[in-house]
Parts: sequence; C-alpha cells; structure tokens
Amino acid sequence: MRYKISAPHPVNHLIEIEMTVENPSGAEMSFQLPSWRPGRYELGNFARNVQRWNAFDEKGMPLPFRKTGKDLWQVNVNDASAVVIRYNYFAAQLDAGGCWLDENQLYINPVHCMLYVPERMHEACEVSFDLPMSYKLATSMEKLSDHVLKAQDYHELVDSPVIASPTLQHKAFTSGSTIFNIWFQGDCKPDWNRVVEDFKKFSEEQIRTMVDFPVNEYHFLIQILPFRFYHGVEHLKSTVLALGPGSNLMEPALYIDFIGVASHELFHSWNIKTIRPAEMLPYDYTRENYSRLGFVYEGVTTYYGDLFLVRSGVYSVDQFFMEINARLQKHFDNYGRFNLSVADSSFDTWLDGYGPGIPNRKTSIYDEGCLIALMTDILIRTKSKGQASLDEVMRTLYRDFGKRKIGYTESDYLSIVEKLSGESMADFFMDYVYGTEDYEPLLSESLSLAGCQLVKRSSTFDSEKYFGFKTILSEGKTIVKQVAPRITGRYSRTGQGRRNYQCE
Ligand SMILES: [Zn+2]
Repeated sequence: MRYKISAPHPVNHLIEIEMTVENPSGAEMSFQLPSWRPGRYELGNFARNVQRWNAFDEKGMPLPFRKTGKDLWQVNVNDASAVVIRYNYFAAQLDAGGCWLDENQLYINPVHCMLYVPERMHEACEVSFDLPMSYKLATSMEKLSDHVLKAQDYHELVDSPVIASPTLQHKAFTSGSTIFNIWFQGDCKPDWNRVVEDFKKFSEEQIRTMVDFPVNEYHFLIQILPFRFYHGVEHLKSTVLALGPGSNLMEPALYIDFIGVASHELFHSWNIKTIRPAEMLPYDYTRENYSRLGFVYEGVTTYYGDLFLVRSGVYSVDQFFMEINARLQKHFDNYGRFNLSVADSSFDTWLDGYGPGIPNRKTSIYDEGCLIALMTDILIRTKSKGQASLDEVMRTLYRDFGKRKIGYTESDYLSIVEKLSGESMADFFMDYVYGTEDYEPLLSESLSLAGCQLVKRSSTFDSEKYFGFKTILSEGKTIVKQVAPRITGRYSRTGQGRRNYQCE
C-alpha cells in the first residue's frame, strides 16, 4: 500500500490523501476507514471528516464506486492495474488522539484517516509526505528518508501517530537496550535535565518490574497547547500526550500530571498493546470490540502508572497517596457504583463510557479499576504471605500471553491471580469486579493490611455536607452538578478532589 499526504492549504485544516493499491484482484475492491481507534473504546465514526472521495485507475481515469457502509466504499475495478483513491480529511481535532493541520504542523493519527483494503491488511505500508524540507517527522515508524515512512502492516500504520513540524524539540536517552525519544511540539521551555532524569527513572522501573520492554525504541510525542489541557493516548511504540498551558509545563501542578500520564501511557506498551484481551486480538476496526476486562487494561495501568512513579522516587509518598485519594474520592462521589459493576461498565464504554451520562448509572474502568487493582495487589500479597504480588500477575500475562501473541480471557486473569495468591478469589471477583458490592469495608480492611487507614471527613461545602448536592461556579452562576440519591446508610461524603482526569 502506498499513501501520499499533502497539505496545500493548511488554514482550511484539510489534509489531502492519495492511496494507491497495485494489482487489484477481482472485479470489485472494498476500502474501509476505521470506525474507532484503539485506546478509546467507543465509536469515532471518522468517515464524517471525509469531505471528498474519488477513485481512479492507473491512468487517472475515474472508476465507479458506491458506499456500502458508513465508512466502507466499494470500487468497480474494471481492468485497472492499480486503483488510486484520492480523498481529503478534515483535521481539526488537536488532542492526544486526533488529527490537526495548521501553518505550524501536520499531525495525524493514521487510524482516523488512512483507508485499508480488508483482505490486504498484512501488506507493508509506505507513507510519503509532501511538506517543506524544514519539516521534521516525529514518529515510531521506520524512516525510509526524511519524509517517507514505512510500516510493516496496516496495524502498525494505525498504531503510529506522526507529528510533522519545523519546530519540534527533541532529546533521547537509552535505558538498557531501549532508546527513548521525547518530542515536544508547541510553545514551551522544558527543563530537559529534569524531564530526562524523571522519564529515565520511571521507564527503568517499569522495565525492571516487567523484565524487558516489548520494543527496541519508544517515542513520547507531546503536543503542548496554550490553554489548560490534559490527555494521553497509548500505542505500542509511542504515546501522544496533549498538555497545557505550555507556560506552566514545569509548574508543580501540571508537571505532576505530565509525569503521571507519561508513566501511565508507557505501561500500556505492555498492558493492552502487548498483553491483549482475546476479544481484541486482532483489533476489528469496523465495529465495537466489547470486553469486560477494562479493569485490567485501564484499571491496572492507572494503578501502576502512579505506583512506578513512587517506586522510582519521581513521586513522593505523599504525592502517591494524593493520587490514591483522588481515586477514592471519585469512587465515593459516584453512586453509579451501586448500579453497574466495573466489568459491565467496561463493556458499556462503547455505549456511554466517555461522557458523564445519566446520573449514577455506571462506574469507571480507570477509577474503580484502579481500586480493584489496589485491592487485588494487597490481597495477593497477604494471601501469599508476601511471596507474590500484582507484579507477578502482570509478568505472567506478559510472558505467557503477550510475548506469545495470545489473547488472555477473563478466566485466564482470574486463574493467574488465584494461582499466585494460593486460594480462591472467586468471591472477590464476583462481588467487586462483576458485582456492585460496596467497596468500602474491603477497601478499609485492605488498606489497614498495608498499614494505612481509610479516614472519611465531612465535606467543607455546606451544600454537600447538609443537603447532598454538589455545585460549581460557572460564568458567575452557581450550577447544581450532582445530587446524591437516597440510599440510606450505604454511602458517605467527603469533599475534595474536583479533578478532571483523562488518559486513555
Ligand atoms: Zn490508559
């Protein structure tokens, strides 16, 4: 497959894409655009950003085509020796998982905008960029020349975001045999010594725990925005982080978030990109890929993202507990915990997983998933008398499934946890992962086993403390954001942690 990308008029945000497929077989050929992107388990319907789409033969003569699905085109090949598709894509979503074009950069997540031929996904992909020579490319894809990239197959192509810009800032470091690259796009002045030192610490800690790294080279691609922003998306050989405002990058509040999301996304290189639920191996880009294992691929990753930071000395112990407290706060603020289990909420990310949704309907694979990981870790350590931990669970998944390219199932996860803890964990999974049992008693017990105490405090806000509703101040108006349901005796309120957390 060959793709050519150009951007003749950056101000209109339209990327021009030409895809050439040699030697078509059969009278018709299908061209599919993904309907979602791995990392965000909901439909994205990227075809809505395609403004114009046409098919030609090798001589430039138009070929007839029609749409047979919302993101599927059928081309009448006739006797053409090559099919050339020319289309454009509206790149106006600047976050960690989107596409953006302006006069300063061309940034693509190929999963949004690169078509594929379903029966030829295994073929190598070559992508050439028609850009000014001053533009550098930051990506994990192999570089055939300055502006020509190669992916082994379509799966690698769509797992490899690209930032092309004349203003990229770059440093690299090595850790064992792995090269790590850090790229910044956007207005900021990173304290490189500190950034490299901290990234090196948590990367080495992760590799030490997991024994080795799944790939030889990794790229942190960081989009810096001029306003408050926080987002991260994982890939096997890279991650994109979008953060802002750039002027505050090295200020404690944003820097802690920056390091936090970087560590989280790096661990995904093992947990989801290599250690994959069977139902997502391989990914099916055309439809929902339902899984109830979000408490592992996001919950365990959320737990470890912060744990690696405190283990490697990048976070203080106090900072780590602040992160755990933020999860606890969100858990106790969310009365959906009594309605939908974390496993079922994982399945339902495809329905309403990324917006607030109706009140108190669901839980979060990030927050409840993290607390499940914390309790699982403490239970394994206790039951095995300190002989095993969640570390060993993840190493086992990596060694026995991830490295062998075998997808794991829900029962695989349960049996590894049970084997390492030395006794049945069926009740724990039934009650807390697949059920809506109140976490509080077990959380309290587990934390006390780890030498901690779960302490509840009354909210300092009268509306929350006395009346059970939360308010926010927006544009001079007080708005009621949440009302506690009447569930006598089953919940409690504290009053901190109003924080937006979005990493994928
Ligand atoms: Zn994640």
